[in-house]
Amino acid sequence: MADWLDAAAATWEECRDYLAAYPCAILPMGATEQHGPHLPQNTDTLLAQAVAAGVARRTCGLLLPAQPVGYSWVWRDYPGSLTFSFDTLRAVVQDLARSLARGGCRSLLIVHGHGANPNPVKYAIRELADELDLLILQVFYPHLQQLRRAVDTQMWAGGNFHAEEIETSMMLHLHPDLVRMDRAVCEYPEPSIEYEMSALPMGALSQSGVFGDATAATAEKGARFLDMWIERAAALWLEFLDSE
Ligand SMILES: [Zn+2]
Repeated sequence: MADWLDAAAATWEECRDYLAAYPCAILPMGATEQHGPHLPQNTDTLLAQAVAAGVARRTCGLLLPAQPVGYSWVWRDYPGSLTFSFDTLRAVVQDLARSLARGGCRSLLIVHGHGANPNPVKYAIRELADELDLLILQVFYPHLQQLRRAVDTQMWAGGNFHAEEIETSMMLHLHPDLVRMDRAVCEYPEPSIEYEMSALPMGALSQSGVFGDATAATAEKGARFLDMWIERAAALWLEFLDSE
């Protein structure tokens, strides 16, 4: 038996046998939301999927289908962006965790491609800890310090990065056919004190939907950025499994 298994392509009996041998699973969580004029809306989903698959191949886990919708309230005024409510996303994660626990899963790694998902999921995890014999670890760019040193451009002063050098580079590496590089822009919106402190959505600050410099992206950098992410997430996952 391989050390990892693709849950969507496997039969139920293969899943049963896998979880009996390796009671652990990996869930990629993404979003369908604006990613500037040059990247597809499923960027976060594709990135989370690639990282989750990379971690599964290096370690172990029942690789679950990537969740394509998350908590994307900040992009509410961009046509095409979809969002669950905070409570819906929390409930989705709890339902998935209950399904896994019933099937014999005891450890779950959630790989986030989208920065607003970890918050509702944090509360889902806390509530599940009182209910299930299933331990959950969630990671969102756990290599961020290393990544900050590896990029060529400044990150946006407001603290987030979106559809810029990092995400665009990884997409150029993984899915060059989906990147419209001729439309890539550089935009550093003026930070506002209302952002994070009121109901002003982050999306209202940017003209293009980009926070950073997408024009500096290359596929070569993307391969490095992705490797760093997979390596760090895999190390944390192994540590988490060991600590049980
Ligand atoms: Zn993104």
